[in-house]
Amino acid sequence: MRKKTQMIHGGIVGDEQTGAVSTPIYQVSTYKQDGIGGLRQGYEYSRTGNPTRHALEELIKDVENGVRGFAFGSGMAAITSTMMLFNSGDHVVFTDDVYGGTYRVMTSVLNRLGISSTFVDTSNVEETKAAIQDNTRAIFVETPTNPLLKVTDIQATADVAKANDLLLIVDNTFTTPYFQNPIDHGADIVLHSATKYLGGHSDVVAGLVVVNNDQLGEDLHFIQNSSGAILGPQDSWLLMRGMKTLGIRMEEHEENTKSVIELLQQHPTVEKVFYPGISSHAGHDVAQKQSNGFGAMVSFDVGSAEKADEVLSKVRYFTLAESLGAVESLISVPARMTHASIPHDRRLELGISDGLIRISVGIEDAEDLVEDLKHALD
Ligand SMILES: *Cc1c(COP(=O)(O)O)cnc(C)c1O
Repeated sequence: MRKKTQMIHGGIVGDEQTGAVSTPIYQVSTYKQDGIGGLRQGYEYSRTGNPTRHALEELIKDVENGVRGFAFGSGMAAITSTMMLFNSGDHVVFTDDVYGGTYRVMTSVLNRLGISSTFVDTSNVEETKAAIQDNTRAIFVETPTNPLLKVTDIQATADVAKANDLLLIVDNTFTTPYFQNPIDHGADIVLHSATKYLGGHSDVVAGLVVVNNDQLGEDLHFIQNSSGAILGPQDSWLLMRGMKTLGIRMEEHEENTKSVIELLQQHPTVEKVFYPGISSHAGHDVAQKQSNGFGAMVSFDVGSAEKADEVLSKVRYFTLAESLGAVESLISVPARMTHASIPHDRRLELGISDGLIRISVGIEDAEDLVEDLKHALD
């Protein structure tokens, strides 16, 4: 099955009993048992399993080429639950400009439970190798990163992970399974903030995880059921609805991004453009090797916080908001929004300057987006 077909025919489609083409919303908490322990379809309680959530979990498993899928109440719930695979005393190596919430949960919450972390530039495999300690259990990579779009070589990192008996976990939120399947390149666990492209319409908060073997599947299901950070049936249904159009949306997002990049590259107000599709971008070759598309996240530097504010106040179609990956174009200033929880010095070290603007290019008419941005930059 090819990708667009898989988004529509993957997982469990429709309803056996009625022939309904759309998976029903099983708004239920518990299930009648035929005698004690006599479960009809394997369902006993909706924290443990729910048919609507299960259909979504099967769909993401299929589109990520994995063995088992899991749906959580948010991307952070997915990441935190995945981290519960580890024990007090364990250590995980992370991409340095990882999503701000991931940095926060590792350094302000899970550190208190004894799970330590080191943040390095994983786009350089040597740095990743050098960060491995005796108690390291996993490498967690986000590629491309947020907001500088740095690219990590998944296969090369998987080789390092295997050689050291570590798990490789990849946050695939930015590129989506339509363009990139980390498990095909050796990752053990793939996770998503499904709030972004998978949902695609700024109307649901959700997280998804896919694992590449049965043991990890058992372990993560035990954690999902024990800690209970599940996605509800309504949101599971809404997310499946969004995922059906992921393919056509990603194609359109990327087409529009090409037009926006053309404008940004030749505009005098713009000092630097960050996008893996640009051939001079440091991660261009690796991105081309491991993905079928470069996505629609772009960052650019206008030099100062004042200029950034001016651009933000003049755009009409780019909505000032956190988040990304929806049909509508969004604009943000990472230093004061998504990455505000990272200390100022650390931000500058990472290259997240005060004049950096990040856009998530939507699927409006490209001409409108380019005109709007040009007007604001002029
Ligand atoms: C948004 C985001 C998250 C967190 O997901 P939520 O659904 O907001 O909890 C994690 N990783 C990346 C790359 C994100 O963009």
